[in-house]
Amino acid sequence: MARDLEAYLRPGIASTPFCPGCGHGILMNLILRAIDELEIDMDEMLFVSGIGCAGWIPSPHFNADTLHTLHGRAIAFATGAKMFNPKLKVMVISGDGDLTSIGGNHLIHAARRNTDLTVICANNMIYGMTGGQAASTSPLGARTSTSMDGTIYRPFDLCKLVLGAGAPYAARFAVTQPVSLIKAIKSCLTTTGFTFIEVLSPCPTQFGRRNRYESPADMMNLLMERCISKDEAARMSVEQLKDRIVTGEFTNGRP
Ligand code: SF4
Repeated sequence: MARDLEAYLRPGIASTPFCPGCGHGILMNLILRAIDELEIDMDEMLFVSGIGCAGWIPSPHFNADTLHTLHGRAIAFATGAKMFNPKLKVMVISGDGDLTSIGGNHLIHAARRNTDLTVICANNMIYGMTGGQAASTSPLGARTSTSMDGTIYRPFDLCKLVLGAGAPYAARFAVTQPVSLIKAIKSCLTTTGFTFIEVLSPCPTQFGRRNRYESPADMMNLLMERCISKDEAARMSVEQLKDRIVTGEFTNGRP
């Protein structure tokens, strides 16, 4: 039977530090729902995060063991913890700046080695907490504090990146797709090996304001308009796919 999610939070936690309209609060809720539905004992889990707003999702909120590590180094710490205690279910939760920009090398090598970790990357397309700089995920033309006229570099496709590096499972969903996201988190937690989810989570403060979104609701609405399933994408032309975000679960057929 579903537990009150408050049972998963540290005593005394009354609010989060996230800005109004930030997607990270939704993601926090969905991770806990997935854990609750699987009835996993939090004492069997370790949550590891790096630096950035998404790093606050597990730490200080979850009533479990957490490691809040150096910028870009969450996967390295998680790998060490898993090697020391292979029985632990280790989940890394952090942002795109932390995991895929500063920490990109750890990401691709953990995928290559198929290290038994679940990595949840909250992708808000920018460095949020540390000043709104361009990340490896910022879309072409996005205004950031380091690309005032729009970034000139193309972003990584994170799912293709980890699958290409050797990860057996990757998924992409937005926080506006809660049912699919819970299912994907549960798939990760019940699969051995390196599993990765890119979660599209809007940052109205650093990304939205610079890129002229009127409100946080506009960012959520745009995600709902743009996200399509793999099946829908398969029926669309290259032109129709422009500006669309293909979501779903992806594998590369490797064990
Ligand atoms: S800066 Fe952006 S990512 Fe960070 S809490 Fe605020 S809205 Fe969320």
